[in-house]
Amino acid sequence: PLVLGIETSCDETGVGIVRGHTLLADALASSVDQHARFGGVVPEVASRAHLEALVPTMQRALDEAKVTLADIDAIAVTSGPGLAGALLVGVAAAKGYALAADKPIYGVNHLAAHVAVDTLEHGPLPEPAVAMLVSGGHSSLLLVDDLTNGVTPLGATIDDAAGEAFDKVARLLGLGFPGGPVIDRTAKEGDPASIGFPRGLTAPKDLAAHRFDFSFSGLKTAVARWVEARERAGEPVPIADVSASFQEAVCDVLTAKAIEACRVNGVRTLVIGGGVAANSRLRALAEERAAKHGIEVRVPRPALCTDNGAMVAALGSRLVAAGVAPSRLDLPADSVMPLTAVSVTG
Ligand code: ATP
Ligand code: MG
Ligand code: FE
Repeated sequence: PLVLGIETSCDETGVGIVRGHTLLADALASSVDQHARFGGVVPEVASRAHLEALVPTMQRALDEAKVTLADIDAIAVTSGPGLAGALLVGVAAAKGYALAADKPIYGVNHLAAHVAVDTLEHGPLPEPAVAMLVSGGHSSLLLVDDLTNGVTPLGATIDDAAGEAFDKVARLLGLGFPGGPVIDRTAKEGDPASIGFPRGLTAPKDLAAHRFDFSFSGLKTAVARWVEARERAGEPVPIADVSASFQEAVCDVLTAKAIEACRVNGVRTLVIGGGVAANSRLRALAEERAAKHGIEVRVPRPALCTDNGAMVAALGSRLVAAGVAPSRLDLPADSVMPLTAVSVTG
């Protein structure tokens, strides 16, 4: 099927077009620069930016794919989770296009779309698979038997998301926003073994109740304390070493738990999605550790890991192909949509 996907859950306005597993267009407009001076995404600013960017982004995607709205088989749109006002812009636009062009509409789950996008790069996902979703707002391990039917949560962060930890640590190091890409770059100049930052929820007593859960807030605090102690002593802060050691702590825990989840569930495929999946160290360490257990790691290219319209189209395409019924035209924007709902039905 030829499916168009619209994404507006946070600060990226994305319109993607796919045919089956083939990516035809992925147009993106970001308001990230408008949020930078606030150190985080400002919901009102994001909504306004989506409103201004949506129609031109839609036109760019159609041009890039060399198709018209009339050619499209279905329109998919992020229904949630995300910022309520931001989601509303995309959902309202999708309804308008669906109504005007008389096309079925699929309200889909943004997090499931972060998992589905890998099919555009590596083809159909072998199932069952374990999915690790690591983004600005989420860090979860999921068992995926059939993505069109929902996913089974194995564990999640009990405090900060992995991307949030990158953003907060970058901020305290004065590296700017968003923190992930800049820490990834800065860490390349540093020694990941120079500072032993804590690995959250990996002690035997924590593993009993939190085997597949994560915690990054203690790590963030440990980095803050370490930097403060340096400054108090009047010594320079080795930004690259701190970045590399922090990044290593995050990637160590994420990959260890993801691979353990595969082993325990007898699963041979690990798919990683979400903005933090763009991290170069996470990708390398996951590959290295998975290879030892005969597990295949699937991570799409960095541009498909962060928010985009193609991921929404990819999930829509999978739902259409599986014969899942479209959503009703009055589908909601659901800022707290649970992962058990892959699309809006009924
Ligand atoms: P969610 O998907 O949970 O709703 P979101 O849509 O804001 O949240 P994404 O766009 O998927 O999140 O990811 C953004 C996050 O990814 C930010 O926290 C950013 O710092 C992080 N990130 C992006 N690139 C990298 C990288 N190379 N290394 C680490 N983190 C990264
Ligand atoms: Mg973003
Ligand atoms: Fe996201």
